[in-house]
Amino acid sequence: MSLSPARPACAAPPLVDAFQRRITYLRLSVTDRCDLRCTYCMPERMAFLPRKEVLTLEELHRLALAFIARGVTKIRLTGGEPLVRREVVDLVRAIGRQLGDGLEELTLTTNGTRLDAFAGDLAAAGVRRINVSLDTLDAALFQRLSRRDQLAQVLAGIAAAKAAGLAVKLNVVALKGLNEHEIPRIIEWAHGEGHAVTLIETMPLGEVDAERADHYLPLDAVRERLAARWTLADSAHRSGGPARYVEVAETGGRLGFITPLTGNFCATCNRVRVTATGRLYACLGGAEQVDLRAALRSEAPEARLADALDEAMRIKPERHHFRIAPGAAPAQPRHMSLTGG
Ligand code: SF4
Repeated sequence: MSLSPARPACAAPPLVDAFQRRITYLRLSVTDRCDLRCTYCMPERMAFLPRKEVLTLEELHRLALAFIARGVTKIRLTGGEPLVRREVVDLVRAIGRQLGDGLEELTLTTNGTRLDAFAGDLAAAGVRRINVSLDTLDAALFQRLSRRDQLAQVLAGIAAAKAAGLAVKLNVVALKGLNEHEIPRIIEWAHGEGHAVTLIETMPLGEVDAERADHYLPLDAVRERLAARWTLADSAHRSGGPARYVEVAETGGRLGFITPLTGNFCATCNRVRVTATGRLYACLGGAEQVDLRAALRSEAPEARLADALDEAMRIKPERHHFRIAPGAAPAQPRHMSLTGG
C-alpha cells in the first residue's frame, strides 16, 4: 500500500493551549485492539471498536501530516497494540518520510508480542527508540497480569529490537503485591541488557475487573526503597514525555518515574492524543475532545482540521484530577487502550 497524501500547503501557527503550553508531541493510536488483556487496562471480555469506525491508514497519515504542519515534532504510535494493525508498517514508513522535515522523532509503544517480526522494518523506516510494556520477567505473573502466556514472545521481541539497533525502554507499571518485589530484578536485567526502564503509577481509566486501589503503588515509596539499595543521581535527561529520570550508579543504567498521582507533571504538558477513530483527547485525564474524523471526511478537510486543532487548544484542561481510592470511580470511563496511554 503506498501512502503519499500531500503535506498541507502552508505552515500554520504552532499548537499552543490556553496555558501557553506548546504542543509538540502527538500520541496517535492506530487501533484499540490488543492481543493481551492486562488486568489494569481492560476487562477480559473487551468490546473493541467496529472496524468501519476506525480511520484508514491513509487518514492516519493525513492526520500526522496535519499535526506536523502545526509544529508537532514527535509522534508516538500506540494502540491497544499498534503491531496488531495490518499493514501498520506502511504507515510507519510514510510518516518516517517526514523525519528531518518537521518531524524529529517517530516512535512506538508496544507490548512486544509481535516485535520480533517488525523490529527490522521499524528501524528501516526511521524509528530509533521504542517503548516496550513489560511488568514482570516471571512467566506465571506475566500470564496472571496479561491473561496471556506470552512472556517468551515479548523477550524474543526485545532481543530482536536490540539486534535491529533500536534503543529499548521498558515501561513497567508498578503494582502493589504483584510485581513490587520484582522491580529491582527487572531494573538489573534491563540495565544489564542496555535497556532503560521507566516505572509508572497506575492511572484510573475505565472500569476494570480488579479493585485498582488494591494494587496502587506510589512511586515515591518505591524510589525510597531503591535509593536504599542503589546510588540514584538525578538526571537532566528528558525524553519529551512526563518521565523524570535518575542514573543508577551500580547498574550503569537510566531509570525513569512517571508519577501522575505522587508527582504531577501537567505544568509542562506538551501532548495530545488521538484515538484510532480520529477523536482527539486534549488530556489523558479529561473528557475534552474534538472529532477529527468528521473534519477529515468533510468537503474542506484542511480548513476543518485546522479549526478542530484550534478548538482542541482552547478546551485543553490545565491538568488531570486522578484519584485512586477503594471503590472510587475511574477518572474517565474510557479504557487506557483507547488512547494507548
Ligand atoms: S494528564 Fe493531561 S494535562 Fe497532565 S500531562 Fe497528561 S495530558 Fe497533559
